[in-house]
Amino acid sequence: MVPGEPIVLASVDGITVNARITGQVAAMVTAAGAGGVRLTGGGYRSPAAQIETRRANCGSSYYAIYEMPPSACRPPTARPGSSQHEVGLAIDFANCQSRGSACYRWLAANASKFSFYNLPSEPWHWSTTGR
Ligand SMILES: [Zn+2]
Repeated sequence: MVPGEPIVLASVDGITVNARITGQVAAMVTAAGAGGVRLTGGGYRSPAAQIETRRANCGSSYYAIYEMPPSACRPPTARPGSSQHEVGLAIDFANCQSRGSACYRWLAANASKFSFYNLPSEPWHWSTTGR
């Protein structure tokens, strides 16, 4: 992504993502469905929504929202301006809260075929970079 580049959004089966990755997300959702796993969840998050998520998960002080390490939040949450959700390149999948879930097991076996990678600290969080 080029900083400042406008982000064009698109929806794939109710998941809002960067329009540049709709093809791979649609293919992954379709393949998962064929395997009996329905992938749903949340993709794009506006910068304002990222700040609200930090407030909810990390605390309300300036330090908590803008500076605290992501790992100190529950659940871990990227600092404003550094989340792949803010550019529409990450998806938090529902029903993927644990590594034992059918969702996680399917993604662990197949997501890389669609250039999607897991953030190890968050079983539900998958992105084009693994961050
Ligand atoms: Zn996430």
